[in-house]
Amino acid sequence: KRMIETNITEEDIKIEGSLRPQKLDDYIGQSKVKENLKIYIEAAKLRGDALDHVLFYGPPGLGKTTLAGIIANEMGVHLKVTSGPAIEKPGEMAAILNNLEEGDLLFVDEIHRLNRQVEEVLYPAMEDYCIDIMIGKGSTARSVRLELPRFTLVGATTRAGLLTAPLRDRFGMIYHLEFYTIQELQMIILHSARMLAVEIEPEGALEMARRSRGTPRLANRILKRVRDFAQVKYDGIITEEVARTALDLMDVDKLGLDHIDRNILLTMIEKFDGGPVGLDTLAAAIGEDAGTIEDVYEPYLIKNGFLNRTPRGRVVTELAYRHLDCGIYRNRRG
Ligand code: ADP
Repeated sequence: KRMIETNITEEDIKIEGSLRPQKLDDYIGQSKVKENLKIYIEAAKLRGDALDHVLFYGPPGLGKTTLAGIIANEMGVHLKVTSGPAIEKPGEMAAILNNLEEGDLLFVDEIHRLNRQVEEVLYPAMEDYCIDIMIGKGSTARSVRLELPRFTLVGATTRAGLLTAPLRDRFGMIYHLEFYTIQELQMIILHSARMLAVEIEPEGALEMARRSRGTPRLANRILKRVRDFAQVKYDGIITEEVARTALDLMDVDKLGLDHIDRNILLTMIEKFDGGPVGLDTLAAAIGEDAGTIEDVYEPYLIKNGFLNRTPRGRVVTELAYRHLDCGIYRNRRG
């Protein structure tokens, strides 16, 4: 199984519930987002009003759903969760909105995947807290306006650019979630270990943090695997050595790249002479979906200087050659 699974696995659902921080102060990292949210939440509470609509974007597993839960908690309102692909008809969206109570928070994951008609229900709902529904058929059909309670929509997506402009414009706050630093991930791992009653040394947590691809979901997943490994092969305590041995076995390398990351870079080097190569061509060559490469794999590779985006396509960097030990190829290119 891939460590960098885009989709949430059953296992994640089981442990994530218990590991999710409930308050803004317990949420590690993303300090700019946190500071901003704190002020707006405070202000909305003082006014006794619903919080303005919020859009979070960034790669999967960085804490968008967690933040939605925290906002609901801090505001003291109900959290309703749905997702773009789950709502197929405008009537379904209208029903969800109509069932909200004053101040409620509606979280829509993968909001870019709402179809156009469903999305259009959201425009007046977000802007004027109302929906227009059609009653009757044919010549007797008429549109009736329904008032909604003031509510907060929190949307999550991998890239803000995937949203249509009219939808994006209706969010009062738009935040980009960044990859976490190694120190932040180490704190998250130590915290999760405490919650799961796993014995761990700080160096063990650090080694896992280095290889978590800047992503809390991955950090928690790695922690669980390494714990199992420590229990079966060692005395249960996660030391640096235990973490390193387990992660090597999982094929996650020292910089957190897994076999798909390495495959992307190696393919670019071996088949395209390091690039530039277009995204679709690259996707076809490695048999991955172009969107997944762009939203899940590439951001981390770019952030860490393995890959660059140029107007003519993607190119690998010297660092990628060095990391993959491809001196021969580089020299052959002269
Ligand atoms: P996303 O919605 O962006 O895909 P999630 O909110 O589901 O990501 O986060 C995945 C998991 O990572 C959560 O279960 C949570 O335990 C953990 N997590 C995310 N962000 C943080 C954070 N800032 N501090 C601690 N744990 C976090």
